[in-house]
Amino acid sequence: MKVFKFGGASLKSAALIENILPIVEPFRNEKRLLIVVSAMGKTTNALEDLFHTAWNLQDYTEKLNNILTYHQLITEKLLGKTNPETQSLMQEFLQALQNTISLIIKQKNKKTKQNIANFDQLYDKLVSLGEWISSKIVYLFLRKQNFQIIWANAQQLIRTDSTWREAKVNFSLTHRLIKQNILPLLTDNLVITQGFIGANAKKQPTTLGREGSDYSAAIFASALNAQSLTIWKDVAGVLNADPKRFSQAQLFAQLSYEEAAEMSFYGASVIHPKTIAPLQQSNIPLYVKSFLQPLQIGTCINNTKVIKMIPAIMIKDNQTLITFSLKKINYLDTARLNTLIENFAQYNLKIYALQQTAFDISFCIDKQEEKIKTLQKKLEKEFTIKIQDNLQLVTIKNADETTIKQISSNKEIILQIQKENFIQLILKN
Ligand code: ASP
Ligand code: MG
Repeated sequence: MKVFKFGGASLKSAALIENILPIVEPFRNEKRLLIVVSAMGKTTNALEDLFHTAWNLQDYTEKLNNILTYHQLITEKLLGKTNPETQSLMQEFLQALQNTISLIIKQKNKKTKQNIANFDQLYDKLVSLGEWISSKIVYLFLRKQNFQIIWANAQQLIRTDSTWREAKVNFSLTHRLIKQNILPLLTDNLVITQGFIGANAKKQPTTLGREGSDYSAAIFASALNAQSLTIWKDVAGVLNADPKRFSQAQLFAQLSYEEAAEMSFYGASVIHPKTIAPLQQSNIPLYVKSFLQPLQIGTCINNTKVIKMIPAIMIKDNQTLITFSLKKINYLDTARLNTLIENFAQYNLKIYALQQTAFDISFCIDKQEEKIKTLQKKLEKEFTIKIQDNLQLVTIKNADETTIKQISSNKEIILQIQKENFIQLILKN
């Protein structure tokens, strides 16, 4: 059995949704395919925007209408304008959006101290509707094409805690739910479900973090012990650099799990960083392929180590370099280091590069003004803190001289870290 994941870019228009037909056609008779979809196009951003507008008690009508019209036009093209299924689906979508918006406004008007917690909880409730509608549309479309297909609700399968917007998955329960409920269906049907979303024990909707549907697909694949997971993208596979920045980016035909996980950690945006772990644990190969050229080989990620790798360039923009130096002449001992690291952990600040000397230490992190200000206030008694903003972190694996020169030309190097042919450069544009 196989798992296919289609992301927003592959579902952003009726024509692209029709384009998935040849990809799923081989499973018409064979069945044994689970399809995981995310919201269509930029719907999650639009829902986020709608959420903020409603929460601020501003006029949200236009934003709501844009979301509705976008989905309605796609559905009409795929199912037909006069199809009663189109109308009832759109009616149900509108109802769900309006009910959630009413809750948001009601909550905001209460002005309780609880608002912060409710903000994130209601965000999940509204934003998860993007995946809901997307999976319904694709489901009805494939059914219309006479596929034997069942729609499954990921909120009854992916069980999480209540960390709104970044929910932690309860793996043992989730695996059990997927095995029990989905596995038997796949013998005679295709099944379609949603990425990115889950629910807590009280059945309240949660989300797994932005761009999290790759991660969902990996969880489904590992619970089903699938033969493989394929993520269908608008690029040919995993490239050694972002093709938008490097016109000569090359495709990796093969990558090891470690290599891929490391690349996504340092900013290769093609797969979500959390995706690899569930697959590696169950030893399930991950294929990253182009939905526009489904016959091309794409990239295969598995446990085979590639011996001679070409340089891989990962770039993270909007980085902050924060340097702590001791105020009195004193060494940066383990107790002090511990204080710093504990604070980073408490504020959930991910460290992408780090350099230490006897008296100071620098961390490269994503720019997050609020958190950094709080951290500064807390630690400025003991440390002199220097903050440098708007930097770019370039991580190069298997670096060679040419690549390093090419990257750093015309730029000021703020910091350089090197371990054999692994190099990190923090650059000022
Ligand atoms: N639709 C969600 C997002 O845009 C999840 C995903 O695309 O993976 O963040
Ligand atoms: Mg997306």
